[in-house]
Amino acid sequence: MRIDLHTHSTASDGTDAPSGVIEVAAQAGLEVVALTDHDTTSGWVEAAAAARRLGIAFVPGTEVSCRSGGVSVHVLSYLQDPAHPALLAFTDRTRAERITRARRIVELLGPDYPLSWDDVLEQTADDTTVGRPHIADALVARGHVADRSAAFEELLHPGGRYYVPHYAPDVVEAVRAIREAGGVPVFAHPGADGRGRVVGDEVIGAMARAGLAGLEIDHRDHDDAARARLRVLARDLGLFATGSSDYHGRGKANVIGENLTSPEVLAQIEAEGRMPVVRP
Ligand code: AMP
Ligand code: FE
Ligand code: FE
Ligand code: ZN
Repeated sequence: MRIDLHTHSTASDGTDAPSGVIEVAAQAGLEVVALTDHDTTSGWVEAAAAARRLGIAFVPGTEVSCRSGGVSVHVLSYLQDPAHPALLAFTDRTRAERITRARRIVELLGPDYPLSWDDVLEQTADDTTVGRPHIADALVARGHVADRSAAFEELLHPGGRYYVPHYAPDVVEAVRAIREAGGVPVFAHPGADGRGRVVGDEVIGAMARAGLAGLEIDHRDHDDAARARLRVLARDLGLFATGSSDYHGRGKANVIGENLTSPEVLAQIEAEGRMPVVRP
């Protein structure tokens, strides 16, 4: 069975509509796909309808922005109650403060790379979780850079002079909130050190004690050594392992279905989650 548990749509920083992500998944021969937009569940209804129409199973999820001290980390939540206040309190605040932060980045860029807030809004759908990728797209539209990757490498990376961080909840508190909301928490790309700092094993241990269920190990941002190390850690902490593409449409090179999760792990996620998997 082909199962991909990490994708993004125009509800956050992917370039396909939620229904488009499901269409691409079906075309790629996937039997199960999750939609995990940053800090939102707004794509779920459209994705579920498309999945029913196309005969593919759909796992509703969210990629929750978190931090551990000053390190930015992402935790996937699967099958949570989308209306539960514990998690919504975090994601609503993150979404609001992401806008303030994006406006500051646009202000900082302005003298060197003329850009307006409207330029950024033009790159977002209604109710999108705004992120640096939308600023990148606006910079491309203005002709300042060639593509999203160039925008990140040249202007938007965390070490750069235009970077501004945004609010995010502490990762251990976020894991607890995901469980309270009936979600199944999985640490997204825990060893992706190419894009910024990553947390140490002691933080993953604290997350495990707070209810973490799994580690996303098969991900393109992990080399073989990182995967081997994470497999040992997952076994020691009693966590399961997932594999996923982190598909963003045209926004990233990641190909849908390029990494997969086993049916046994999906069954465990379904057993622990409050919401059902949407099956055709
Ligand atoms: P933000 O959440 O606003 O801090 O932006 C981070 C998001 O940008 C990540 O979730 C990725 O999807 C995306 N991203 C990071 N690096 C790159 C890159 N080099 N090219 C395209 N997208 C990227
Ligand atoms: Fe993203
Ligand atoms: Fe992520
Ligand atoms: Zn992601």
